[in-house]
Amino acid sequence: AKPVPPFLEKTRNSAEMYEEASETMPGGVTANIKHFEPYPLFMESAGGAKLYDVDGNEYIDYNLCYGALMLGHGNSRVIRAVKEQLDQMGTPVFGTPHALESAVAKKLVQLYPGIETTRFTNSGLEATMLAIRLATGWTGRRKIAKFEGHYHGGYDQVLISVTPEEREQDVPPRSSVDSLGVPDYYRDNTVVLPFNDWQQTEAILEKHRHELGAVILEPVQAGFIPPDIEFLKKLRECTLLYGIPLIFDEVKTGFRLGLSGAQGRYGVIPDLTALGKVLGGGFPVGAVGGRQEIMEICSPNRRSDILSFGGQDTGKNGGSDVLFHSGTYNGHPTVLSAGLATINALEETGVYDRVEQAACRLRQEMEQILCDFGLCGRTVGVGTIFNLVLSDTPIREVQDLLRSDLHLRKKLDTALLERGIYVKPGNRFSLSVAHTEDVLAETLERFEGGVRQLIR
Ligand code: PLP
Repeated sequence: AKPVPPFLEKTRNSAEMYEEASETMPGGVTANIKHFEPYPLFMESAGGAKLYDVDGNEYIDYNLCYGALMLGHGNSRVIRAVKEQLDQMGTPVFGTPHALESAVAKKLVQLYPGIETTRFTNSGLEATMLAIRLATGWTGRRKIAKFEGHYHGGYDQVLISVTPEEREQDVPPRSSVDSLGVPDYYRDNTVVLPFNDWQQTEAILEKHRHELGAVILEPVQAGFIPPDIEFLKKLRECTLLYGIPLIFDEVKTGFRLGLSGAQGRYGVIPDLTALGKVLGGGFPVGAVGGRQEIMEICSPNRRSDILSFGGQDTGKNGGSDVLFHSGTYNGHPTVLSAGLATINALEETGVYDRVEQAACRLRQEMEQILCDFGLCGRTVGVGTIFNLVLSDTPIREVQDLLRSDLHLRKKLDTALLERGIYVKPGNRFSLSVAHTEDVLAETLERFEGGVRQLIR
């Protein structure tokens, strides 16, 4: 009989559970991003920097729920806060205003220079959607500009040019639809810009200046490709000049690049900011904050004659001079208790420095290992997040990634999974406060084994 590859040998229970899941869920998953070949791994428990799967394998987790778990798994302060909150409330949710909303809102206003007032949502997706609606509602212009390869969540308006095809450097990016079911309307009303290329970006913005209601970007592309600071500054100046609200999607960078996110780190202040991930402390959350005059358009106080439609209280009032924003679970108190505990823990001195130093050391040593084995690769990142890119050219935007050796990277990721390093294949590495010296040493040993296997 043919020998069974080690990945399949070690993960038989995951394979079975995947088969079962596929009977009731398309592709066996509840989010496309959770899927990978030959099948995703099913986890059973976690603690600190480690995940444990249903076959009893242990992994050092560098996915950390796509970067959300800045404090690692099961941080005792977060768990305690949630339990106490549930005990104190006697219910998970009130469905009414409560004190934690203001408590967390105050933190966001204090910490984020671009946030004067804020609204909570249940996910990063909802946050960017609300930010775009606020911007287009405020300007009265329907087109938006986004950057090629930038991800803002899985809904129609932003599923444009997220996974582009290769193009030559001097050819401007195209607006293309990335999913079935997205009406052409969104392609036609989305202007696509090249990240870190000011010359082209400026020309495209100038051409569309009178039609654009928003410019949205990930200030650090995909959480790991840093911006040229001059590029960010020029984008800010230009959007101010043209009166186009600038939205920073800080769902990945918020509370990752420091307490004040990318805007604090780079000193470039957007009109609107979308947050998510770390803010939820492991629970689903999002938030939008920004300039008060823009945020205020969603206030139900804008008209005094609030009506209710057919028993369905839309919070609006006959006209369309209030921007509609709602959500059954918005500002969920259990979630916000985890968020507040997370922010409090992150506010302690030295936390970011420690995790950033760990990331820096890991990157250097991984690069050394790649080099020792004659592999052409590097890490690309900023702060506590980086990615491994098998390429010998600088990585400044999504097109450079497309030209890297993605096939070899996938093989490396499988070898790493077999050795107990959990990364979502192809995806970035995120670190947490739980990634201590010991964990790094263990990681490097496993990493070296993975690379050795790859070149064999
Ligand atoms: N924006 C960015 C930059 C993200 O990375 C993500 C998720 O990965 C989102 C928005 C969507 O957030 P969520 O998955 O919470 O809806």
